[in-house]
Amino acid sequence: MIEPLLVRADARPRPDFLIGTKGLHIGGSEVTARSGDAFVTIDPVTEQALATVSSAGPEDVDAAVDAARRAFENPAWAAITPYRRTQLLLQVADVIENNADELAILESLEMGSPHTQTRWMIDHCVEVFRNHAGWPTKIYGQTAPSASTQLQYTLRQPLGVVAAIAGWNGPLLQMAYKVAPALATGNTIVCKPSEHSSLSTLRFADLLRGTDLPAGVVNVITGDGKIAGERLMSHHGVNKVAFTGSTATGKHVLARSASNLKRVTLELGGKTPYIVFADADLEKAAATCALAFCAGSGQACVAGSRIFVHESIRDQFLEMLIQATEPFKAGIGDPFHPGTRMGPLAFRAHFERVSAYIDLASEAGGKLVTGAEPIDGGGLFVAPTLIEGLDNTSRIAQEEIFGPVSVVMSFRDLDEVVRLGNDTVFGLAASVWTRDISTAHRAAARLDAGSVWINRGSQMSAGPLPFGGHKQSGIGREHGTEVLDAYTESKSVVVELS
Ligand code: NDP
Repeated sequence: MIEPLLVRADARPRPDFLIGTKGLHIGGSEVTARSGDAFVTIDPVTEQALATVSSAGPEDVDAAVDAARRAFENPAWAAITPYRRTQLLLQVADVIENNADELAILESLEMGSPHTQTRWMIDHCVEVFRNHAGWPTKIYGQTAPSASTQLQYTLRQPLGVVAAIAGWNGPLLQMAYKVAPALATGNTIVCKPSEHSSLSTLRFADLLRGTDLPAGVVNVITGDGKIAGERLMSHHGVNKVAFTGSTATGKHVLARSASNLKRVTLELGGKTPYIVFADADLEKAAATCALAFCAGSGQACVAGSRIFVHESIRDQFLEMLIQATEPFKAGIGDPFHPGTRMGPLAFRAHFERVSAYIDLASEAGGKLVTGAEPIDGGGLFVAPTLIEGLDNTSRIAQEEIFGPVSVVMSFRDLDEVVRLGNDTVFGLAASVWTRDISTAHRAAARLDAGSVWINRGSQMSAGPLPFGGHKQSGIGREHGTEVLDAYTESKSVVVELS
C-alpha cells in the first residue's frame, strides 16, 4: 500500500484571491459575466470547491473581442514605438516575477502539481516575457530589387485580434507562450484558459492593471470550452487563433477557424518515444525516462510515454527504470508537502480516463511492472505505471493517455526504432540516448518530431528555439524567429518615383 504524503488542511495555503466570484477581464476592468453563469473550480487533492469563476456566454465573448479590437485600433497601443512595446513586455515580466509565489500556489491548488513544479513554470513565464521583449525592435521588412523608377519594400504588421486557448496542464505558461509574441508584434488578445485551471490567468489579468498596458490589449474570459471557446474560435472579429490542447479539439478548432480564414497555430498532443541504445549512460537514461513520464503525473504533451530499449540491455535497463521510479512512488502526495514529486491527476473525469487505460493495458495482455500497488485513501492519485508485454500497435502505445503511464518496448537497430518511433499519428518530440555521435545525428534527422533531445529529456524553450509538432501534434511554431511569422502579416508596398 502506497501512503501519500499529506498536509494538514489548516497548513495548506489559501490566498485571498479565492474569495468571491471571479469576474471576466474585459477592456481593462473586471466585470460580471452578462450570461449570469458561474462554475466552481475544484481542488483535486480534496475534491472540494476552491473558487467560483464566471462563465462567459456568447455575448461576453463578443464584448471581449470588441474590446480587443478597439484597443488594437487605439493609438495608445497602435501608435506606440517598438521600444515602448519592449518596455511594456518587461513590465509584464516584472509583475509576474513579483507575484510568482501566489501564481504558483493558485496553479498547485487548482491542478495538483507540486508547488516546486508550478513555481518553475511561473519563473519560466517571466523568462518568456523577457525574451520576447527583445523582438519589437527587431521585426524587419525587406527592400526588394526593382527598377530605378520604383521603390519596393515589405512591412511586417500585426494581424489584429488574437484568440488564445490553453490546456489545463500549464495554464499561465501556455498563455505566456501566446500573450508574449502577440504583444511583441503589436496585436491584442483575448485569452480563454481551461475551466479546470483558470485562476492563475485571472490573477495575471488582475496584475496587468499594475502595468502601463492600455486597457483592452489583454482580455481574459473564463468558461466552458464548448460555449466560450467555441464562440471565440468562430468569431469573425478574431484574426488569429493560438491553441494548446488535444489533437481532437485542435482539429475542431481548425475547422471552426476556417469560416473567416483565421491564421491558426495549434500545439497538440504527443506520444514521445524515449530511445535508449546499449552504449548510453544507462543510469542517467533511466533517471530521465522515469522523470519523463512521472513529472506532472504524466500530464505533459511531451511525456515519455513510449520507452524503446535496445534488446541487448532490456532486462538490465528495465530493472534500473523500476528503481528510478521509486522516488516518484515515495513522493506521491499533496502539492504542498515538501517531499511531493507527484500530485494527483487534475480532475476526476481525467483520473477515470487514465485508470481505464491502465485496465485496458492489463486486459490486452500487458504486465504492470510498476503501478499495481494500491494507494491508501485513493483520491485522484495514480502511481508511476510501467507496462511491458505490449507492442507499438497496441492502443496503450498509440493513444495519448496523459497520465504517469509508459510502455516499455525493445528494438534491434536504428532502422527498426526509427520506424517504430515514427509509427504514430503524433510527432511532437523524441529523446535519443547514445554515446555514438553518428547514431545520435542519424536518429535526429530521421525521427519525425518537432523537437529531438539527445542524451537529455525535454527542454522547454523560453524563446530562442522554436517549439511545435509534426503530423497531428500541431501546426506552426511557438518561439524562435518563426513565431514572428505566426503573429504578423507581410505587406508589399510599391512606390512609383517621379
Ligand atoms: P482539450 O483539448 O480538452 O482542451 C484544450 C482547451 O480547449 C481548453 O481550454 C478547453 O476548454 C478548450 N476547448 C474545449 N472544447 C473547445 C471547443 N469546442 N472550442 C474551443 N475551445 C475548446 O485539452 P486538455 O485541456 O485536456 O489538454 C491536454 C491536451 O493538451 C493534451 O492532448 C496535451 O498533449 C495537449 N498539450 C499540448 C501542448 C503542446 O505544446 N503541444 C502542451 C500542453 C498540452 P475547457 O477545458 O474549459 O473545456
